[in-house]
Amino acid sequence: MEHIDRRWIAGRLNSGFSKDDLKAILLSSDEESEILFEAAREIRRLHFGDRAFIRAVIEFANTCRCSCIYCGMRAENTEILRFTLSPDEIVSVAETALSNGIRTFFLQAAESEEYNAEWLGDVIRRISDMGMMVLLCVGIHREDDLDYWFEAGARKFILKHETSDAELFEKMKPGFTLADRIRWLRTMREHSYHIGSGPLLGLPGQTVDSLVDDLILMKNLNVDMSSVSVFLPAKGTPLEDYPVGDVDLGLRFIAAMRLFLKNTLIPATSTFERLRKDGQLKCFNAGANVITVNMTPARLRDDYELYSERFYVGLKHARKTIIRANLIETTEAELFDD
Ligand code: SF4
Repeated sequence: MEHIDRRWIAGRLNSGFSKDDLKAILLSSDEESEILFEAAREIRRLHFGDRAFIRAVIEFANTCRCSCIYCGMRAENTEILRFTLSPDEIVSVAETALSNGIRTFFLQAAESEEYNAEWLGDVIRRISDMGMMVLLCVGIHREDDLDYWFEAGARKFILKHETSDAELFEKMKPGFTLADRIRWLRTMREHSYHIGSGPLLGLPGQTVDSLVDDLILMKNLNVDMSSVSVFLPAKGTPLEDYPVGDVDLGLRFIAAMRLFLKNTLIPATSTFERLRKDGQLKCFNAGANVITVNMTPARLRDDYELYSERFYVGLKHARKTIIRANLIETTEAELFDD
């Protein structure tokens, strides 16, 4: 495999990255990865300046009809308390976020049937009317609901594809297919949403080649937001005894997203901080430009068990991490204004 240096990167930035090039990035040595991270920061600077923004997430419902084998909220898990927050509580958390200077509010939930389109539409409208950007991550619902929520003020939708390996996808998400998920991402785009996706890195059976395909899939979908989380096992699931994913590979994946996709929003996800001290700082140093503060009420957030013993990102930590990454905090709207 060729040695990666500044010239190698500049050449690919000019003429494009092949599959082998993307694989070389993911398999780069520590010395090469430092050069890749530096180049990724340069690409971020070109597209966004040295700026990052904070968004706030509330996980408002954790009842789920799905059985993803890596997730603590899968329908079969009877060990966790199931909850749906009231609209007033969600809106009040959004007000707190706004009063702290956060202008993007992220409504996240499991694929729950505990709320309907009108219920969520009302919540979206109330938050959007406060002047906040509303981002949804609520799984797959009816196509009509997309229009309803868009009219209410939602503009962005994240649906992680988790893995681009169709066979692995069906093992991880029984009853669902990758093709349907990709179709749904395209449908969201047709309904005028900015879309986000990304893999869960470290799933048992996942290969580096399939991670390369994840990058290509995101490019083909022309995603606005791209992310990677590192697999961490959740108690009470079929994968509870499996090893965690590789943080260093995750950081190289972030650099690959920045170099290959260039102008997407890339979050420094909490799994990196959970697995390594200053993990989110390292994500910023690899090209990330967003951090999400968790504002799910403390009494319930352990029951939103995507993985066990989660790291909860607080506002102070988020602001400190942005400063330590030599970035300036901005808002999402300002990031795209200039
Ligand atoms: S990953 Fe999402 S859809 Fe799958 S079980 Fe967990 S909450 Fe439900």
